[in-house]
Amino acid sequence: MTAEAAATVRTTCPYCGVGCGVLASRAADGTVSVAGDPDHPANAGRLCSKGAALAETLSLEGRLLHPLIEGRRTGWDDALDLVARRFGELIAVHGPDSVAFYVSGQLLTEDYYVANKLMKGFIGSANIDTNSRLCMASSVAGHRRAFGSDTVPGCYEDLELADLVVLVGSNLAWCHPVLFQRLSAARAARGTKVVVVDPRATATCEIADLHLPLVSGSDVALFNGLLAHLHARDAIDHAWIEAHASGYQAALDTAQSMPLADIARITGLGEADILRFYELFAATAKTVTVYSQGVNQSSAGTDKVSAIINCHLATGRIGKPGAGPFSVTGQPNAMGGREVGGLANMLAAHMDIENASHRHIVQSFWQSPGIAARPGLKAIDMFRAVADGRIKAIWIMATNPVDSLPEADLVRAALRQCPFVVVSDIERHTDTTALAHVLLPSLAWGEKDGTVTNSERCISRQRPFLPAPGEARADWWQLAEVARRMGFGSHFRYSGPAAIFAEHARLSYIANAGTRDFDIGAYADADGAAYDALEPFHWPRSLEDYTASRQRRFFADGRFYTPDRRGRFVPTPWRQPATAVSAAWPLILNTGRIRDQWHTMTRSAKSARLMRHLAEPFVEIHPDDATRLGLASAHLAEITSAHGSVVARLLLTTRQLPGRVFVPMHWTDHFASRARVDSLVGAHLDPVSGQPELKHTPVQIRPFPAAWYGFALCCRRPVFRSEYWAVAKAKGGWRAELAGLRAPADWTETAHALLAGNGKQDGLDVLAYFDRSTGQHRFAAFEDDRLTGALFVSPEPVAVARDFIADQLDATFSAHTERFRLLAGRAPAGRPDAGPIVCACFEVGRTRILEAIRGGGGASVEAVGAATSAGTNCGSCRAEIGELIHAACLAKAG
Ligand code: SF4
Repeated sequence: MTAEAAATVRTTCPYCGVGCGVLASRAADGTVSVAGDPDHPANAGRLCSKGAALAETLSLEGRLLHPLIEGRRTGWDDALDLVARRFGELIAVHGPDSVAFYVSGQLLTEDYYVANKLMKGFIGSANIDTNSRLCMASSVAGHRRAFGSDTVPGCYEDLELADLVVLVGSNLAWCHPVLFQRLSAARAARGTKVVVVDPRATATCEIADLHLPLVSGSDVALFNGLLAHLHARDAIDHAWIEAHASGYQAALDTAQSMPLADIARITGLGEADILRFYELFAATAKTVTVYSQGVNQSSAGTDKVSAIINCHLATGRIGKPGAGPFSVTGQPNAMGGREVGGLANMLAAHMDIENASHRHIVQSFWQSPGIAARPGLKAIDMFRAVADGRIKAIWIMATNPVDSLPEADLVRAALRQCPFVVVSDIERHTDTTALAHVLLPSLAWGEKDGTVTNSERCISRQRPFLPAPGEARADWWQLAEVARRMGFGSHFRYSGPAAIFAEHARLSYIANAGTRDFDIGAYADADGAAYDALEPFHWPRSLEDYTASRQRRFFADGRFYTPDRRGRFVPTPWRQPATAVSAAWPLILNTGRIRDQWHTMTRSAKSARLMRHLAEPFVEIHPDDATRLGLASAHLAEITSAHGSVVARLLLTTRQLPGRVFVPMHWTDHFASRARVDSLVGAHLDPVSGQPELKHTPVQIRPFPAAWYGFALCCRRPVFRSEYWAVAKAKGGWRAELAGLRAPADWTETAHALLAGNGKQDGLDVLAYFDRSTGQHRFAAFEDDRLTGALFVSPEPVAVARDFIADQLDATFSAHTERFRLLAGRAPAGRPDAGPIVCACFEVGRTRILEAIRGGGGASVEAVGAATSAGTNCGSCRAEIGELIHAACLAKAG
């Protein structure tokens, strides 16, 4: 083996549920590089912009490296003793339901398994829930209703084999980019038809043959109409239903109760477009319906899932190559969490908490003193119980609920008054760690060792290639140590993650014999060496019939996991979202991801390259709404709901329907003054899944009355007292957007203090410019000709070449003319301005792409790619390139 090969580790991306394989290489000097794993079944060597930037997110800056009690450094023994003692005391006095674990789809399966075992088997409560509740709980509930199990029937290959792919509430291009690449390639090769059902014209629409911009919350009406249409067109597979499913007539009766005109009114779609979709679906046997957060994050999320599955059951299009309903998960290990029972209403190994024989299987296997006999509190109810004092101690692992849960300000208040809060995290400073009594340092990606399961049931290893920093330890180890201190040590004596995985595999196999979907019994005896060498594999992998269980799809034989082994149709009467617009709250807020950030940005924001795509929280609004409300492009707006308010930059776009606005989910108090979008969202839950409605919040929006705007560049993270700020990493420093209600008395003094960073202004050479006619102030600071900072201030939004300026930190400006050019906010000759980054993979900016288009090398996205490389790796920026080409064509025609 060569030295180079020895340093390369096969691991798995820690971001989205596509679960791409990554080759991570660590050079002798510690430098890490990453590449897509050509042998991983999910990505075959591809990576998206986030995956490709993983090496840029590994710095220890901001890491939590030691246990802390009340903010003071302590040793592991003291911290773990305190956790075990406080949990034990509270359980003794108030019972097991007085404590809770709130865990995460970021945890590895082994961590998840131990957490679930400790809470459900040994503490004796089911008060363990996960942030996956916010992500795909409605899919879980919909699967269980229809299939009798939480089974994803298909696999990624189905998107490549299908003749029609319907994407519902899924911005695949930004949220599952490698899957989007696979679909795009299949479409180019074989002409796959693509229908996008989404209120927004997202980047995914670039490959859509038909986009249905339905009113949010109306999906059930659309798919009920589809079922009725399939029936009317005689496109139903009655023989298959007869043999394999129940409840068709009741579901059909409900579906037929709504005429097409009503569906058009409710969905806001034209009848012709609806019928075009219905006809496509009816005529295409090989149809896959992919759904994601736009379906799940709804007060009718489970019914939306059921309405989709009904159409697939009715046509027998399930479990077949290129046909089936397909839920894609947001997080890297949402599926692994489901497999070990990480949700409050499930048991380990896909067993049911309500099922006495399942409880007996698990309890006997664990040899635990008892087992939780009823579902615990789901995420939202869990934090309500923290707020009202029923839960007195909570252990939060690898998640940031102060930002990510709805009614986020109430969650913050609940944790603030909770008697005992433990947080295990990799970051020292998050909005949640700020409220912890005990902080436990966990391992990050690159240090962790375990497995994850992606959206197509493929289990892959995350392998370490970096040493554990400081005193950080694995989450499973922290849990096992607390279990030992609580008196359960003999049941948690694991030598490492391999032993946990083997136990998990054994439990999946016990008393199974094909009665449960989740079975990885083939690995029940996997030792450390086998675990280390584990190749990605799709479950099931049973012990008895290893070859037969290598099936890639479920339900091809028409046998489900319900008591009678038949699939279930579920009637889904349409109902309105939980809240409606009113005179006070006239717009509907939608929330979601952006291409280059992950969750609350604790990792992805460490990459200056990723921050260059969208560096500031923004609100998308239709130009007509903006005009009506007196909102101007690039100004700031305050968005308010019944629960809170945020401030964000206005982005006027026809991608947004009138009456709707969109704000990304990522920004926290760590990166912006007031942009925690979930502080706006009400905790309205799906009654079956308990998933909150994150995509339909009535809001109002008004101009933020800024007296001045600023853009700053600093070597160190700047500190502001202005009413609005948003910071982002830049190359060698930080960039910041600023605004205030009142201008400082002395801009020169303010600029010097800001640009000095550490307070020392000696040796700082500050060039200043004031334009009396426009009221603009501009400052640039140099040390030995090197640019160390800049500040641009204006009564209107600052108009400078931000991305060029952000790249100039530490650059040499010896000539006076160059310095003044910089102050003018323009790129000097010989230092071209790339413009805002469009292609993060190859760092190709807007300016470069426009040049390629104008130069004749860019009549198509492919031609721009050939000229600039933009869009030729992950493909997530292809839609933006397409928009630029379209705009250029319009400008030329005009
Ligand atoms: Fe990671 Fe991107 Fe693959 Fe998702 S698509 S797993 S974020 S590389």
